[in-house]
Amino acid sequence: VRVPLRDHWLHVVAILLGIFVVAGSGYAYLSLRGENEFLSAERNALEGSVNIAVENLRRSEQEKSDLAEALRQEQDANTNLSTTLQAEQEKNSLFESQIRDISGTVGTLTKLSQTDPELLMKYSKVYFLSENYIPAHLTPLADRYVLNPDRPEQVQTETLPFLTRMLTEAEASVGPLRVASAYRSFGEQAAVKSGYKFLYGSGANSFSADQGYSEHQLGTTVDLTTPTLAGLSLKFKDDPAYAWLTANAFRFGFILSYPSDNAYYQFEPWHWRFVGVALATTLHASGKRFYDLTQREIDGYLITLFDQ
Ligand SMILES: [Zn+2]
Repeated sequence: VRVPLRDHWLHVVAILLGIFVVAGSGYAYLSLRGENEFLSAERNALEGSVNIAVENLRRSEQEKSDLAEALRQEQDANTNLSTTLQAEQEKNSLFESQIRDISGTVGTLTKLSQTDPELLMKYSKVYFLSENYIPAHLTPLADRYVLNPDRPEQVQTETLPFLTRMLTEAEASVGPLRVASAYRSFGEQAAVKSGYKFLYGSGANSFSADQGYSEHQLGTTVDLTTPTLAGLSLKFKDDPAYAWLTANAFRFGFILSYPSDNAYYQFEPWHWRFVGVALATTLHASGKRFYDLTQREIDGYLITLFDQ
């Protein structure tokens, strides 16, 4: 069979074209498939990354809520702790105040048991201090405070600092004051009385030396005068020292036992008794006299007798 040469070439070209198209298609197909696989892998990889990110986010949110929960528990625990601590502190301060109350009571009882109740007793011509009574502690008064240093004077020991402060302040304001008589034992009474009789004659009994005798036996009472008057005299009431004592002695716990204008006792402007700052201040403020109060009212001041 004779095939014209042109047809032959056409065949060849057709076949070649066919081969070329098939090959091209195949190549295109292969390359598309490859690209597709690559993209799919890429997508998978991205999906994987997204999943990981989502998972990480979920975890971190879980951690955050775990932390929040832990924090809340911690805060609850703290609240509980501070409640417990507060309760504990309240309990402690309750104990402390109970201990304070108890030791305060013990202190009060001790102080009361150590304070001589005689020191605030009302004495009179009919109610005397026992002749056997002697103060527990007596201290000699420095010579510069004593009218007659040849005859030493003693004062109940705890009263002494109040007395010396008063004498010092008085001297700075109105000139020197002197103690003519302080502690007197029961046995000395007769001698003192006869001394008054000697000095003032029978008229001496008009300001009875024994009305305040028991008070002198306590050691807390002093008869005061000036170096000029140099003795117990009603003239003392006109001295600036007496005016100063009337206005200031209470600050040192001293009172005038037998003031003027009273129905029961002779006026003794020189005779000052220590009754403690609290009671003396109350008497001064109210204008009342020691002997106007009941013994029961007076005894309430025993506990603060030597308080400043
Ligand atoms: Zn006196």
